Amino acid sequence: MKVIKFGGSSLASAEQLQKVLQIVKEDPSRKFVVVSAPGKRSDSDTKVTDLLISYHSKYLKNEGTEEIIEQIISRYELIMDELGMNKNILTDIRQSIEKLTTLPKENNPHLFDAFLARGENNNARLVAAFFQDNGLQAVYKNPRDIGIIVTDEPGNARILPSSYEKISQFRETDEILVIPGFFGYTEAGEICTFSRGGSDITGSIVAAGVQADLYENFTDVDGIFVAHPGIVSNPKTIKELTYREMRELAYAGFAVFHDEALMPAYKANIPVVIKNTNNPSHPGTLITTKRAADHEPVVGIASDQNFANIYISKYLMNRELGFGRKVLEILENLGLSYEHMPSGIDDISIILRERQLTPTIEKQLISKLEEVLKPDELRITHGLSMIMIVGEGMRQRIGVTADSTMALAKNEINLEMINQGSSEVSIMFGIRKEQENQAIRALYDMFFN
Ligand code: ASP
Repeated sequence: MKVIKFGGSSLASAEQLQKVLQIVKEDPSRKFVVVSAPGKRSDSDTKVTDLLISYHSKYLKNEGTEEIIEQIISRYELIMDELGMNKNILTDIRQSIEKLTTLPKENNPHLFDAFLARGENNNARLVAAFFQDNGLQAVYKNPRDIGIIVTDEPGNARILPSSYEKISQFRETDEILVIPGFFGYTEAGEICTFSRGGSDITGSIVAAGVQADLYENFTDVDGIFVAHPGIVSNPKTIKELTYREMRELAYAGFAVFHDEALMPAYKANIPVVIKNTNNPSHPGTLITTKRAADHEPVVGIASDQNFANIYISKYLMNRELGFGRKVLEILENLGLSYEHMPSGIDDISIILRERQLTPTIEKQLISKLEEVLKPDELRITHGLSMIMIVGEGMRQRIGVTADSTMALAKNEINLEMINQGSSEVSIMFGIRKEQENQAIRALYDMFFN
């Protein structure tokens, strides 16, 4: 049995909902359908969630809310009209949106979340009704009824472990359960949302709870791209990757999938597939715990910007007791956290996010490091980008680093730092920001063309 989640762009219009219906109909094992709020129909459109955010802000500022309310309701109404649906539930949708202005503004930490959750909640009602109209045995299920009980952290809720047991009771359902994504209820019964994009989290939680065979996450791309399509034109999609690879790629700036969302499915050992509602016959990207070893060594290339490198060199550093500790203590005392720390016999590099280094902090840092460590050389380089190539297969394959550096050298890209992570599933290159795109293209050509 499968849990299937549709993102906002897959539910933005009647045309999209027809595709969703076909996808669900096609496979009777798709029993749990998690939905986002209607998303954008075009680049210039506004997501229902964002309309709800402005509704909330107008309400707080005592500004007129009629117009925004109508705008929100009309998104649902238009879809229903175009689908030729009976509009009984539109009355409920209208009421649920209008009623928000009766909630207290003062001392109400859950107000914002209550506004936001209406987007998915109403959409789940609409989708369930649409499925019923088309002969599917489908019902709307509220997150509370299915057991999604969360911590009391508005905007950033976490699932309570006890929820899974309750959710598992729905495992044998005959009906298709349509569940709104993005929010749950606290033990006290308050609505709390997950972080933005959190419908992915709901899907993953439900998949873990019912021990699904597969969690299908439908979006508007053919899967996870090997490299950013804004940098490499028409990049390939990744066929299969492991959770570990996914995590490394997400860290280095990959944003296709809400990476926190992976956790529940990952812990329950459930494979996830990312697929395209607009091209459902494409196999998409499968995320699993293990992958066959004969795979290509590199599965993806990601990058992130705005790093600084603190380079410290001192003859016989390797023999000086406590050197590393002193460096870290200085960073800690200045409230600086670091990302990577590759080291050699006589030198060490500390890579950190540049935004932490204000001119004052940087001055203090340099003088402290000079004073305590007495280094032979000390310099801070700004404006670095980190490029990461990721792949479990790198462990078995000799020469991946050599191939990468050769590709970079051929393109006259100067390497400021290279770091093979202890995890052995990634290698990281620090280069100047200006050369980032060129470097990604060079690595793409090396490993994928
Ligand atoms: N609608 C919510 C958002 O825009 C959650 C989601 O779509 O996953 O963040």
